[in-house]
Amino acid sequence: MRIYCHYGSNVITLDGPAGAGKSTIARLLADRLGCEYLDTGALYRAVTLFLLTRSIGTTEEEKISMALKECVVSLEGGKVFIDDRDVTQKIRSPEVDRAVSAYSALSAVRDFLLETQRRTAKGRKVVAEGRDMGSVVFPEASFKFFLDARVEVRAARRWEELKARGEVITFEEVKTQLSRRDELDSGRELSPLRVPEEAKVIDTSEKTVDEVIGEILAVMAGRRSC
Ligand code: C5P
Repeated sequence: MRIYCHYGSNVITLDGPAGAGKSTIARLLADRLGCEYLDTGALYRAVTLFLLTRSIGTTEEEKISMALKECVVSLEGGKVFIDDRDVTQKIRSPEVDRAVSAYSALSAVRDFLLETQRRTAKGRKVVAEGRDMGSVVFPEASFKFFLDARVEVRAARRWEELKARGEVITFEEVKTQLSRRDELDSGRELSPLRVPEEAKVIDTSEKTVDEVIGEILAVMAGRRSC
């Protein structure tokens, strides 16, 4: 099924807070539609790792701008690279989890990644997942979705993921970290997390992955037939 091609846009956007199910849904949707999956959270995580490794703090914006001139982050075949180094696992560490929202609020970081994201999507058919996909990075996208879920449900999903990776952490700690990240992502001045205009909001709290995908495809098919 290649519904979106008929609308002249090559991008479908999925925004929403952590744990709303965006990654799973975006990956499956991209497979289903025969397009690529753009995980922009992975790019923000890679930049955070890059800056942490160089011990450059969030207050040192000039240093950050200089350092990012030497940084190439990319996504290839479901893996994340800084230059040629595969950092797919490392960007999911608790240290990056804790720091990523603070670095993501900085204009030096957002300007750098805005270009990277648009360049990555150029000439490709893409399902782009993040916080500002429909509102800032791809405002021209024909299909925009915003996935949300209750904080307890989102924290429980994230807790399961972390336990499966062998992390030792309590549910309460995960919930606190997630709420903190929500606050920072929604409250920041630049490209805050918000529902993009014209986006279809889907609450995934009580829905299976298949149900959410079905709802997205129904919206797309409905608009196609108009
Ligand atoms: O999607 P994920 O949870 O991996 O994103 C990690 C962090 O990256 C978010 O909490 C947010 O601070 C930042 N981010 C962002 N804009 C995006 C994607 C992610 O600010 N488009």
